Amino acid sequence: MTDERLNVLLIGSGGREHALAWKLSESPRLKRLFAAPGNPGICEYAVMCALDITDHAAVVDFCKREAIDLVVVGPEAPLVAGIADALNAAGISVFGPSQAAAALEGSKGFTKDLCAEAGIPTAAYRRFTDADAARAYLAEKGVPIVVKADGIAAGKGVVVAATLDEAIEAVDACFAGAFGEAGAEVVIEDCLVGEEASFFAISDGVTVVPFGAAQDHKRAFDGDTGPNTGGMGAYAPPPVMTDAMMARTMDEIVRPTIAAMAARGTPFKGVLFAGLMITESGPQLIEYNVRFGDPECQVLMMRLECDLLDLLCSAAAGRLDSAPPTFRQTPALTVVMAAKGYPGSYRKGTPIGGIAAAEAIDGVKVFQAGTALSAGKLVASGGRVLNVSATGRTIAEARERAYRGVAAIQWDDGFCRSDIAWRAMERGA
Ligand code: AMP
Repeated sequence: MTDERLNVLLIGSGGREHALAWKLSESPRLKRLFAAPGNPGICEYAVMCALDITDHAAVVDFCKREAIDLVVVGPEAPLVAGIADALNAAGISVFGPSQAAAALEGSKGFTKDLCAEAGIPTAAYRRFTDADAARAYLAEKGVPIVVKADGIAAGKGVVVAATLDEAIEAVDACFAGAFGEAGAEVVIEDCLVGEEASFFAISDGVTVVPFGAAQDHKRAFDGDTGPNTGGMGAYAPPPVMTDAMMARTMDEIVRPTIAAMAARGTPFKGVLFAGLMITESGPQLIEYNVRFGDPECQVLMMRLECDLLDLLCSAAAGRLDSAPPTFRQTPALTVVMAAKGYPGSYRKGTPIGGIAAAEAIDGVKVFQAGTALSAGKLVASGGRVLNVSATGRTIAEARERAYRGVAAIQWDDGFCRSDIAWRAMERGA
């Protein structure tokens, strides 16, 4: 590793990117951080740039003009659209997979086939492009069963069906175009039973190192009730991911995936996020994402001890150290504050205060997601708005601090779950 200082462009505008910007800004190797499009929280650490991130040529031009040494891509959409390919072709280093490697998130059928070929534990499945054949398979398999649109459907393309009618309805909805192109193919798979966990690994295409685990809360309301959301909170480390389970996940799932992608000539470079079901027989892969989870990233960054910029840079350059990145022992937890009505319709433009008061509490950091500035004042501009995050000696302490942070926030239009990390609490963590 050289001592050269680096210019970095961070792509994205959510709480995940705020956490990445915060951590990148701690690096002594950072020269200038730019963010496109960024948000008011990120702007504390980065120069915001008005850049259309769907216009890859414009992004490449910007990188050349500003002498960007590394591009870090937060969300999946630009990766699936091939932004890493455009940057690599122009000789610009990027942390994030090529379009071909992003198929691990972009196509559930692709990932299932790869698992079958490489012997990676995952639910038994079949792929369908024909509704009659899919219905016949459902009748043969019975319930419970899981129906998935093949492509990216904004987290709405999966139905865990308890009845045959529900499963058939899900298949019909996909083929009727409810998810557009993403539903042109359907994957039907067996229903796994166990506890879910999110596992992260960083790869340079060949070498892969574990990057910790977390547990998130997808449902909108307490007790894991209500509609699915982008995620209402997370904590790390989850007790279910013991050292032995982490090692098995690396050996049985992650390493074979990285090897299979390299063997296909489409090496995976970036962060591989494995959605797992921890079953009685061990970890099973539910799905892959090709970027950090949001809000899981926030708790990983709160715990990360080593230099994030060094790590992402060496992964992008194909020179990843095989020694795993180091994390502090202290757990971290984040509570998502969302606009009332989310994930349905909600108001925008409502005023937010109290961030400084929340951050005055020991161990608390507030990451911003859907926020904007209006006449110099902070307002809500999205569904998920703030991530009130905290570390503590135990998960219980991190949770107590995070909820004290939530109480310090003045935002009449916000709501949050009051039971983040309930599984860990039940285990006395
Ligand atoms: P995915 O988008 O594939 O992560 O699926 C969304 C959610 O559906 C997961 O977080 C699980 O809760 C559930 N799910 C997906 N696949 C399965 C499966 N094979 N068995 C049980 N639950 C599943």
